[in-house]
Amino acid sequence: MSGAETFLGRVTAFAEGPVAQAAQSWALGEDPDPQLTRDAAAIGLTGITTPAEHGGLGCGFTTLVEACAALAAVDFGFAMSLVNTQNVGLRLCLSAPDALRDAWLPRLLSGEVSACTALTEPGAGSDFAAITTRATETNEGWRINGEKKWIVNGRQAGLAVVFAQCGQIGDAGGIGGFLVDLGQPAVRRFPISSGFPQASMGTGGFVLDNVVAEGLLLPPGGAFKSILHEINAARSYVAAMCNAMLGTAIREAAEYGAHRTSFGKPLDQHAAWRQPLGAAETDLAAAHALTARAVAQIEAGQDAQLAAAQAKIAAVEAAQRHIPQMLHAMGAAGLLPEYCFTRHLAAAQVAGFTDGATHILRDRVARLTRSGTDISKR
Ligand SMILES: Cc1cc2nc3c(=O)[nH]c(=O)nc-3n(C[C@H](O)[C@H](O)[C@H](O)COP(=O)(O)OP(=O)(O)OC[C@H]3O[C@@H](n4cnc5c(N)ncnc54)[C@H](O)[C@@H]3O)c2cc1C
Repeated sequence: MSGAETFLGRVTAFAEGPVAQAAQSWALGEDPDPQLTRDAAAIGLTGITTPAEHGGLGCGFTTLVEACAALAAVDFGFAMSLVNTQNVGLRLCLSAPDALRDAWLPRLLSGEVSACTALTEPGAGSDFAAITTRATETNEGWRINGEKKWIVNGRQAGLAVVFAQCGQIGDAGGIGGFLVDLGQPAVRRFPISSGFPQASMGTGGFVLDNVVAEGLLLPPGGAFKSILHEINAARSYVAAMCNAMLGTAIREAAEYGAHRTSFGKPLDQHAAWRQPLGAAETDLAAAHALTARAVAQIEAGQDAQLAAAQAKIAAVEAAQRHIPQMLHAMGAAGLLPEYCFTRHLAAAQVAGFTDGATHILRDRVARLTRSGTDISKR
């Protein structure tokens, strides 16, 4: 058995054991026990693609995607929380000076500190170039002022990569990426709660009041481009996570339908009851194929803009369309927290916003296909 297979086996056991047990209470708004994040880190989930020489597992992107999917099959929010910490750890290895990397990375790898990547603001989401958080170079280093909102791990992260404008508002080339210690008193944090529970994702935000950054990781000029490139990976793993959620919903509905009887026979003996399952399986197969293509392109180091956008659109929309149908196939029982449906339904809506809202991605697909870019990979 390969190292990746052993790791994925551990992840699946962890997801189906302690994560599944806790997920029911998270769906009702309870905060996760920080020990569970440390347990996840002990398996390697906060350092999947972090190079082995820096204490990570050194696995490839495909393994990261499979691990995210195994966790999201149970709880999308917890999977998002972990992968966001893992991404900041990798960013430290790629862009931070050794001293900064060595000061923070071990704490991310052990699960002691979680981390986030903060682009979105109250006034700027899809139009990321419009961010108004400002970075100013001073004698003490870069000082950051502004507010970040709707951030995974925003309510508990100890460390953030914060994107801020160093030049004129609206100039994408003026945006830089800064490492910020969120433990400073000048950081005022707030949770974001909603009818869709945000607990396991740690959704929140923070106000940065003249905060001194730990360092500049992505200098203006390259930061915006780097985000546009790296977001393809995020779109691909979110697609895989949506496929995993829909897969669980189909499986739970099918298992229920084999035992629940109505009009003298099990539900799954009624042809009309089976229709929505067949429709869901078909769209899921299509989303899986598009996701596999995007993941393969990223693993091969190719430009995956088109494939990643198409995979995310297909997977998010399949999950948004069919998870409610699977819940309906369960009858009222589908509303209970011991089943995945309400949790996954909410998560599928969230996935429609994170790492590129669906309208924006459709526009990107239209532009790329119209201009002939990526035509060889269609
Ligand atoms: C739970 C959660 C976690 C998140 N985590 C993070 C995180 O960790 N880090 C981070 O930086 N951000 C995060 N986000 C923010 C996410 O990236 C934004 O929600 C997303 O970019 C959309 O921005 P917005 O919500 O401000 O919507 P807006 O940009 O205001 O858009 C509103 C609606 O209009 C549509 N729209 C916007 N512009 C156009 C257009 N030109 N043409 C057609 N339609 C358009 C959008 O698709 C959307 O449906 C998170 C969001 C959620 C919900």
